Amino acid sequence: MTTRLNSRLGQYLGIMLIISLTLGGILSFGYYGAVPHGGSEIEIRPDTGARESVGTALTQVYFILLIISGVIAWLFVLVHESRKVANEETRRQTSLLMREIRAHSRNDRKLQRAKEVAEAANHAKSRYVIGISHELRSPLNAISGYAQLIRRDPVIPEHSRETIDVIKNSADHLAGLIEGLLDISKIEAGHLTIYRECFNLHELLTQIVDMFRLQADAKVIDFVYAPSDYLPTHVYGNEKRLRQVLINLLSNAIKWTHEGGVTLEVNYHSQVAEFSVIDTGIGIVPENLDRIFIPFERVDDREGAPPVPGMGLGLAITKLLAEVMGGDIRVESMPEKGSTFLVRILLSSAQQPMEPQSPEKAILGL
Ligand code: ADP
Repeated sequence: MTTRLNSRLGQYLGIMLIISLTLGGILSFGYYGAVPHGGSEIEIRPDTGARESVGTALTQVYFILLIISGVIAWLFVLVHESRKVANEETRRQTSLLMREIRAHSRNDRKLQRAKEVAEAANHAKSRYVIGISHELRSPLNAISGYAQLIRRDPVIPEHSRETIDVIKNSADHLAGLIEGLLDISKIEAGHLTIYRECFNLHELLTQIVDMFRLQADAKVIDFVYAPSDYLPTHVYGNEKRLRQVLINLLSNAIKWTHEGGVTLEVNYHSQVAEFSVIDTGIGIVPENLDRIFIPFERVDDREGAPPVPGMGLGLAITKLLAEVMGGDIRVESMPEKGSTFLVRILLSSAQQPMEPQSPEKAILGL
């Protein structure tokens, strides 16, 4: 501060010295020009009174000009000073900004490397899960198949049949779990190939509706199917995966609905099919709405109610499948009122009817 003041004062005094000397010079020149002095051949005796009054006037002019120039010089010094300070501040901010940018790009590079490492690890994990699932499925199929065969054997006593049922159900449960894991790993690793084929959408929906109407009847709840009038008969898409998505949503809706009913609405516009599965079930609290799409996340916090079977993979797979098929899934839910799951999937309508499929061949033996 002192240095700044000193330099400011120094500058000011310097400028004032120059101004005062210049002004003094100019006015003295004017004074001697206006009032003639000795030195000429004819001696002129100047009027002393006039010389004095000119001198006084010039001195007054000198001081007035000095005061005005003093103010202007001070303003000039201040403007110069503030410009210098602004320049310094700009330079400082620029260097801070440059430092920040360098730090950001360093962090970006680190993040990019970490992302690549994480992706490589994720791929390795997916490859491992895919490999191990294949290895596990064969013995499990053997356990389930042999349990079925042994159960049919007439020499097996009744009480052993129940044990065999437990073996079969457990093997089936494990096979379902592995199948789900395999699906998730395949989708995450980008190994899931979704073929687009032409299929009959009406037929698929009728099959699914027939299947779930039975389940709803068994639970004594309503089942309503409300397709749009504009639903195309034939569409291009993946029938198997669409069936999987709808089965997951409808089985959840029936599983979590104890009174009222379940509605399947199907709308179609701009080559996109919208499937809404609406239930009047137990609903989901808002803070769990994102959680339910995470693999193995289950929400069953009803006190005293019997546990509902499930693995927590259905919605995770449904969401991934909907995205792979060029769509998305949304959920709206009110606890104790019910839930609505809306899945949108790109299903372009096919103009030509499908080629007739060859009739299924009868199974002749095992
Ligand atoms: P699972 O049904 O095998 O538990 P999901 O991934 O299909 O696994 O569902 C995850 C969780 O989402 C379920 O545990 C349940 O709490 C909740 N949920 C899914 N659908 C519904 C629904 N229609 N009504 C209420 N809760 C639901």
